Amino acid sequence: MHKRRPFNKYVLVLVFIALAAVLYSFNFHGLHKGKKDNMILMRLVVGPLQVNCFIVADEKTKEAVVIDPGDDAADILKLIREKDLKIKYIVNTHGHFDHIGANNAVKEATGAAILIHEADAQLMASASSHASMFGMKTAASPPADRFVKEGDVITAGEIALKVVHTPGHSLGGISLLGQGVAFTGDSLFAGSIGRTDFPGGDLKTLLRSIKKHLMTLPDDTKVFSGHGPASTIGDERNENPFLNKDSGFE
Ligand SMILES: [Zn+2]
Ligand SMILES: [Zn+2]
Repeated sequence: MHKRRPFNKYVLVLVFIALAAVLYSFNFHGLHKGKKDNMILMRLVVGPLQVNCFIVADEKTKEAVVIDPGDDAADILKLIREKDLKIKYIVNTHGHFDHIGANNAVKEATGAAILIHEADAQLMASASSHASMFGMKTAASPPADRFVKEGDVITAGEIALKVVHTPGHSLGGISLLGQGVAFTGDSLFAGSIGRTDFPGGDLKTLLRSIKKHLMTLPDDTKVFSGHGPASTIGDERNENPFLNKDSGFE
């Protein structure tokens, strides 16, 4: 029984090879993800209009940004506490009532600064009356702590989100561009674009915004919209009926 059977050695070698392959694939994956490795991205669907509220956090420092806390503040705050995040900013992609309803509660609880484009400040201020026109209620937001504009960069730890102005759904609509990701608010959806029949909306302006700031991104850029599922710039370029070359829209 002292003599080991050679079979065992082969098994060992095979296990070693398998382990090396797994480790290699992890590393490979990591390289391709680049800076995104340190980004924690969470989504909550909030409120009756099912708004996507995103929390983007830096894994190392736990600093984070909340995008469009539209409603259900308790759920948002629970997640923030669970992950022990320090919320630096609340960013509203635009001022519609369904995207700002938990601004007040999240700000109160975390001390985060509210950021919005100046051209939507008025829309945010009148969100409660806007909501009642739809037979809904929303908690009023405090005024923005700071206005953001085209080219600004919002940072949390090593996470950087560049602001681009994408009006057309509203006057002050913005999208946020990170490493390989785009938060597009109600400008661009998977397979659709935002409504343009609200005050400040304009179809031509919206299409121009999307083409200038979003369709110029790489195909593999992930698109996270204000409502509905995620997509990619490539899929929208090819399949979105408002954007592909046969759409008839210019
Ligand atoms: Zn909207
Ligand atoms: Zn919306």
